[in-house]
Amino acid sequence: MTNATKANDELRKRYEAAFMPNYGVPPLALARGEGCAVWDADGNEYLDLIAGIAVSSLGHGHPALAAAVSAQAAGLAHTSNLFLHEPEVLLAERLLGLAGGGGRVFLANSGTEANECALKLAVKYGKAGGRPYVVAAENGFHGRTMGALSLTGKASIREPFGPFALDVRFVPYGDAGALKAAVTEECAAVFLEPTQGEAGVVPPEDGYFTAVREICDATGALFVADEIQSAIGRTGAWFAFQHEGRRPDVLTLAKGLGGGLPIGACVAFGAAGTIFAKGDHGSTFGGNPVSAAAALAVLTTIEDDGLLDHAREVGRILADGLAAIDHPLLAGVRGRGLWRAAVLTEAAAPAVEAAARDAGFLVNAVQPDAIRIAPPLVLTAAQARSFVDAFPSILTAAAKEAAR
Ligand SMILES: *Cc1c(COP(=O)(O)O)cnc(C)c1O
Repeated sequence: MTNATKANDELRKRYEAAFMPNYGVPPLALARGEGCAVWDADGNEYLDLIAGIAVSSLGHGHPALAAAVSAQAAGLAHTSNLFLHEPEVLLAERLLGLAGGGGRVFLANSGTEANECALKLAVKYGKAGGRPYVVAAENGFHGRTMGALSLTGKASIREPFGPFALDVRFVPYGDAGALKAAVTEECAAVFLEPTQGEAGVVPPEDGYFTAVREICDATGALFVADEIQSAIGRTGAWFAFQHEGRRPDVLTLAKGLGGGLPIGACVAFGAAGTIFAKGDHGSTFGGNPVSAAAALAVLTTIEDDGLLDHAREVGRILADGLAAIDHPLLAGVRGRGLWRAAVLTEAAAPAVEAAARDAGFLVNAVQPDAIRIAPPLVLTAAQARSFVDAFPSILTAAAKEAAR
C-alpha cells in the first residue's frame, strides 16, 4: 500500500468490532466525492469506476441531486402510504412514459423489495390460474430477502438459507431451448436479468429475449425482467429491454434510479398492473418523497444532459481501449454501455482490484476472474482513457502479487 492509511485503518478496526461479519471489512473508508472522484478518510483520491455498485449514476455531489434532495427534506421528508404526494405521482408517470406506457407502478426502497413485489404478483397470478412454480436462471442474482433469495441461482448464496417455500426451477442462462422445456402452462412467471450483473456482466446471445417473450406469450407465464442493475442509462438505453425491443410484463428497478438515495420500483404492464387488490402489498417508506425527488432529478439530468448517448460513447471508448490491451492476464472485455467486465485469464480479480486501488482507481472483483466497471454515467472520455492507460501496469502489478 503506497497511500496514507492511518484514518482508514482506525475506522476499519472500529467497523470490524461493531458490525456483523457479513461483508468482511471493506478496504477503504470513503469520506467525500465530487463528480467521478472520491476521497478516502486519509485524503487519498480515486477515480470511482464502480459507483457504489452501479448506483451513483450522476456521480458524487451532483448539484441537481443535492438541490432536489435538500429541498424535499426541508419541506416534506415522509408521508407514509396513508397520504400521497406529488413527487411520487410524477415519478410513476415518468417511469411509465419512459417504458412505453400502459402500466402501473409500486415504489419500494431497494432492489430486493422491488423483486419481492414482482414475486408476490407472480404468486397471486399463479394461484388464480393453477400455476404453482416459477422459473429463474442459474447464476442469476435477484436479492437477499427470503423471497428474492429463492429466485437467486447461485448456490453459495442460497444454500445456507434453504429450503425455500417457493417452487423455483432453474435453467441455464441464455439457453432458449432449456427455457422452452421448463416453461409450461403451469408456470406463473419467468424471472431473468437482461445481462447477468453479479455473475460478472454476462450478456445472453442476441435474440434470447425475443425467444423469452415468445415462450411467455405461448404459455401465459409472466415475463419479469430484473433491470435493477441494467436500467436507467447503464447500457446506454433507459432500459436494457429496449435494445431488443421486447417489453416484459413486469420490470423491476432500483440501483441507478435514485442516484444514491434508496428507492426501488416494480412496473407492471397491461393486466399484470392490476393483479394486486387493495391491501395486497405495502411499504411504510416506499415512495418516500425524498427518494422520489432524487429519482426525478436523476431522470431529468440524464435527459437534459444527453447521458444515454454519452454512456454509449464513453462505454465504447472504455471497451475498445481495454480490448486493445495485449497482456497475458487479460482475456477480453464484455458488456454494454458503461457496464463492462474485464475478463481475466486466471482467478486474479481480487489482486487486480487491489492493484487498481493502489493506482487510484476503484473497480470491483465481481467474480474470481472478472473485474466489473460500472462508473457514474457522467464519466468523461478523458477519465475512461486514464484508466485504459493505467490498466496494463495494474495487471502487471496484480500478476506479481498473485505470484508471491
Ligand atoms: C443489486 C441487485 C438486486 C438487489 O438489489 P438491493 O437493492 O441490493 O436489494 C437484485 N437484482 C439485481 C439484478 C441486482 O443487481
